[in-house]
Amino acid sequence: MRYRQARWEAGEGILEPTIFELGKIGEGGVVVAKPDNRIIEETGKLEDILPKKLVRENISIPGLTEPEVARHFNHLTQMNFGVDSGPYWLGSCTMKYTPKLVMRLASYHELRELHPYSPEELTQGILRVLYELQNMLSIITGLTHFTLQPAAGAHGELVGALIMRKRFLDLSERRDEMLIPDSAHGSNFASATMAGFKIVRIPPSDEGTIDLSALRAAINEKTAGMMVTNPNTLGIFENNILEAADMLHNNGSYLYYDGANLNAIMGWLRLSDMGVDLAHFNMHKTFSAPHGGGGPGAGAVGVTNELKDYLPVPIIVKEENRYKLSYEVPKSIGKVRMFYGNVGVLVKAWSYLKLLGSEGVRTSSGIAVLNANYARKRLMDIGFEVPYGKNRPCKHEFVLSLSNFRREYGIKALDFAKALIDRGYHPPTIYFPPIVHEAFMMEPTESDSLREIDGYIDAMREIKESAKEKPDEVLNAPRNAAITRINDALANKKLWLTWKIYKESKEREN
Ligand SMILES: *Cc1c(COP(=O)(O)O)cnc(C)c1O
Repeated sequence: MRYRQARWEAGEGILEPTIFELGKIGEGGVVVAKPDNRIIEETGKLEDILPKKLVRENISIPGLTEPEVARHFNHLTQMNFGVDSGPYWLGSCTMKYTPKLVMRLASYHELRELHPYSPEELTQGILRVLYELQNMLSIITGLTHFTLQPAAGAHGELVGALIMRKRFLDLSERRDEMLIPDSAHGSNFASATMAGFKIVRIPPSDEGTIDLSALRAAINEKTAGMMVTNPNTLGIFENNILEAADMLHNNGSYLYYDGANLNAIMGWLRLSDMGVDLAHFNMHKTFSAPHGGGGPGAGAVGVTNELKDYLPVPIIVKEENRYKLSYEVPKSIGKVRMFYGNVGVLVKAWSYLKLLGSEGVRTSSGIAVLNANYARKRLMDIGFEVPYGKNRPCKHEFVLSLSNFRREYGIKALDFAKALIDRGYHPPTIYFPPIVHEAFMMEPTESDSLREIDGYIDAMREIKESAKEKPDEVLNAPRNAAITRINDALANKKLWLTWKIYKESKEREN
């Protein structure tokens, strides 16, 4: 297309026109067959059957040929970056590779076309898959009862928080405070607030872990529980987790575990042994279902025996070799999601666990941790700073601070991230967790080979040198991508979705 090329020549990347700009109204790639005469004889002409005032003369749908449509969508996919395009060390998000077999199993038409209202006699297969997934999660985590319904991690947190609330209502205890460490994921604060709790923040110690004296000071008769991520978002294992669990339990409070970081410990230690009472797990992180771009997720929630009666309905049970959905959960918090949850995502998680087997589960976490430690050590050796926990091994992720680049060369974590795009790497998570200045939160996962990891580190080294010698290159990055440097603030307020708007705003600028 002419404009695609023009923008490329101007060094501005490519911009795929929308289908409305590409196509012409009235043209079409599909020819609809004329109805059979016998049908017309039976029913009369369409124009005569339909009320005149409802009949539309034309519809403004842009017409394109089939190859044009195929190319349009292909171009859009090429402008994107996914785990299949290159290393994607987005800390906290566990962007691991999804084996192609997992995708194939989930797209079997028997599954795809399964109707959620099908009777139980016809859905024994899928119920068995879901039941088995719960059992596998139970073996991995030590938590005994599960719901697979929450649609995402944050939704799982909300379910967990609602379970705690209902439990204390039942006990006639007025507990409305939720403790959350500063290093926690933002969704923890939001979910607990939505469930009606007041948030009490726990500051980190110098080591980046929970400060036990701060925790002791915060616990009181109003404390419902604490939401922890372990290893925390700095990639550091909370060595004091057992003491923290005891302090909470002695006070009648619960320990909620944000299981997004299960990839660090899966198969090595059980949550139940850490004193965890309830937790959510992202099927779309640890268990390989692809995510990002707002796609569906699944945030299974596991609880101990004590809290099983509060799970959302329906639960999946097995009675005399038959699987069924049961609504007999005496104190259930109710329904949180239609039907069985995001079944496609759950099937992917099940397939992934079946592919790995018990040894594979352990090995994959082991390699994820090894990869993170290798990458961290090499980055530290070439002069990158790790503000928290540099003297002990990290788990599956680690956080650099690039504040020295900002001080010395005026280069922010954002600029550094953009320069990685030019080199074919997806940037890590930046500016999170907020307790680290100019944070660069990196999670290689077990998916990347030594070659890929070394490549990422070489790119980091190269950008570090550019920052010193030719900072303009870093400040103007990316030049080598479908979309070049954008004005982030403006882009958030005003979407340049069409070529026309883009051109107009350029003209106005000049
Ligand atoms: C991703 C993540 C969540 C939230 O999961 P969503 O599926 O995005 O809602 C919660 N906590 C942590 C630590 C995470 O990394």
